[in-house]
Amino acid sequence: MRIFTAALATETNTFSPISVDKRAFEASLYAHPGEHPATPTLCTAPITVGREVTTQLGWTLIEGSASWADPGGLINRDTYEELRDEILDQLSAAMPVDGVVLGLHGAMVANGYDDPEGDLLSRVRDIVGNKVLVCAELDPHSHLTAKRVAAADFFVAFKEFPHTDFVDRARDLWAIAVEALRGAVAPVMSTFDCRMIDIFPTSKQPMRGFVDKIREIEQADPAILSISVIHGFMAADVPEMGTKIIVVTDSEQAKGDALAEQLGREPVCHARHVHDGPD
Ligand SMILES: [Zn+2]
Repeated sequence: MRIFTAALATETNTFSPISVDKRAFEASLYAHPGEHPATPTLCTAPITVGREVTTQLGWTLIEGSASWADPGGLINRDTYEELRDEILDQLSAAMPVDGVVLGLHGAMVANGYDDPEGDLLSRVRDIVGNKVLVCAELDPHSHLTAKRVAAADFFVAFKEFPHTDFVDRARDLWAIAVEALRGAVAPVMSTFDCRMIDIFPTSKQPMRGFVDKIREIEQADPAILSISVIHGFMAADVPEMGTKIIVVTDSEQAKGDALAEQLGREPVCHARHVHDGPD
């Protein structure tokens, strides 16, 4: 198997006046292919875990660039397009591949792009076609847009906030990808929009219990490959901001849809509901 991996991530506060350009990435992390350090940063564990997994399996990992900028305001348009096109060119050069495993954050916003990750994933899909597996790890403080859901096979987000589990979740991402590439599972993604804006620390109740519960569901049912809560990132004025549930099943779309809605309607998640209209 030949698998391409890369990372492009930051968390954009669209209300901040601080523009993020190439220098901001270079000051935090800007690694050329194969030069990512052995220690992962928040959004680049798919690369370091991918090295371990593919080495064990004897598969080929083709590394693209890895970039992370500390959170700031909008990304300069030229910077986003340069970093995006660098990865897309590397992917094109690596073709044919069997899978693409990316490290993203999910709350990037660039000048001229409300949904850079949706833009990047759609362009990745255009290059590889519909039969190649495309998946990514996300920070839960992200925007789960319809465009990115349509472009990717599945996402796995960190479960914990504070984010103590980004390496463990990269292992989950890779474990599902490996099983899918072996033909043992066929991941399909179900989502539910909770229509909420809030902050959900998982170190205390009620979220501690909710995360424990979704882990129990994952472990109890082999058809449930992964469950993630996209908390959302309220410091971004983008149309699809908000709290969403992701359920990844093994070919069980209807079951995943029902579980995503059931979890999204749990009373714990509706403690402070954002209403559709005035009441
Ligand atoms: Zn976060």
